[in-house]
Amino acid sequence: MRYDTIVIGGGPAGLAAAIKASEGGASVLLIEREARLGGILKQCIHDGFGVVRFGEKLAGPEYAERFIRKLADTNVQVSLFSFVTRTERRADGYVITYVCREGVCSAECGSIVLATGCRERTRNGIYIHGDRCAGVYTAGAAQNLVNILGVMPGKRIVILGSGDIGLIMARRLTLEGAKVVGVYEAKPTPSGLTRNIHQCLHDFDIPLYLSRTVTKVYGHERLERVEISDVDERMRPIPGTEQYVDCDCLVLAVGLIPENELASDLGVPLDPRTKGAYVDQNCETRIDGIYACGNALHVNDLVDYVSESGETAGSHCAAGTRERELVSIETAGKLLYVVPQMLDVRSDVSGVVMYFRASEELTGQRLTVKAGNETVYSKVYGKLLPPEMERVVVDFGKAKDLSRITVTLEDK
Ligand SMILES: Cc1cc2nc3c(=O)[nH]c(=O)nc-3n(C[C@H](O)[C@H](O)[C@H](O)COP(=O)(O)OP(=O)(O)OC[C@H]3O[C@@H](n4cnc5c(N)ncnc54)[C@H](O)[C@@H]3O)c2cc1C
Repeated sequence: MRYDTIVIGGGPAGLAAAIKASEGGASVLLIEREARLGGILKQCIHDGFGVVRFGEKLAGPEYAERFIRKLADTNVQVSLFSFVTRTERRADGYVITYVCREGVCSAECGSIVLATGCRERTRNGIYIHGDRCAGVYTAGAAQNLVNILGVMPGKRIVILGSGDIGLIMARRLTLEGAKVVGVYEAKPTPSGLTRNIHQCLHDFDIPLYLSRTVTKVYGHERLERVEISDVDERMRPIPGTEQYVDCDCLVLAVGLIPENELASDLGVPLDPRTKGAYVDQNCETRIDGIYACGNALHVNDLVDYVSESGETAGSHCAAGTRERELVSIETAGKLLYVVPQMLDVRSDVSGVVMYFRASEELTGQRLTVKAGNETVYSKVYGKLLPPEMERVVVDFGKAKDLSRITVTLEDK
């Protein structure tokens, strides 16, 4: 079987990419390992999705449904229960190997869209010592148990991590009847959006403890208690500050990592700051014909932007391969990262969508984008928080010198 494009991952990024590629005239195969399309949105039953795109507060499944319906109007072929295990490069394109109900299958294509989302950091990833007892879950696993399977992961729950997923799970587990004894955060400031701190913790009297982390778990077969320690400014536990909290469930919401095993197999260079691929403004990686979008590219805070990058990848891969001239986008000042990291100066440079995050909580900052010595974009921000991703649209169309591009965030 040969397709113009194979999209790997049927979450919001993959759905958007497949729809756009098909609308652009490409023959498309969308491969998804789970039984249904929608990605992680299937289990995100709270509202708040789609405010930017639809001007409505949708639940995750409602948001996904709008794209799944649109997909049904296209010629995209969908292969569910299909896990991509290998991707290889050939002279005339790529070969994708996937395991599905028919066995081990393969398909060829001219371009690939990587839309594989994120995986969650686990207990091993953050070095929590102690017994290997039941009752320690990642937030995604706990969310899946409660929202999809209708099973409670515990009754007395400690949550580690104050990002949005941890906050949303604190509220969700409380609404389902569990006692959330506290949300613990190693950083001195909460990691989630301010509105989620209010709506998920304050409104439900759930305490938030900052500069503290879980250092050990105890339990014979089931979790019985956790050891909590204060941490120093480098987030190292301070000996002698240990406290013990009785609980039967520890939920870890300690970060997402873009899923890029397949990208690595293909030799796609990854940006150590985003853990996703280096891409140009069209979401094409450093390797021609391989695109990355959504959370596989960088961790997004709004699904609306996940869909946006999927659409960018889909519409450009449908246009086929062309000669590129890539110029690196340099960053300076207090930026955690900028996506895209490159500009293809032979492609359309007039409405380049750029996403960035500040490296720390900042006030009174100016973002400046320069082409050569000329400022092509500038914006002042009153306040910037690392959990909140920012988006700007930059017009490089009239710039005279595109040989050097810099993005700087500095005091205004
Ligand atoms: C646990 C968790 C909870 C979240 N909760 C929220 C929330 O409450 N609110 C919010 O705004 N955002 C939330 N997010 C962020 C959310 O992931 C994004 O908004 C959005 O769903 C990302 O879309 P995506 O398509 O990039 O990735 P996903 O939605 O993760 O979709 C990726 C898809 O790729 C498939 N896939 C991966 N590898 C393979 C493979 N090798 N072969 C075949 N298929 C593969 C997966 O099965 C999955 O369906 C959460 C993320 C996680 C991980």
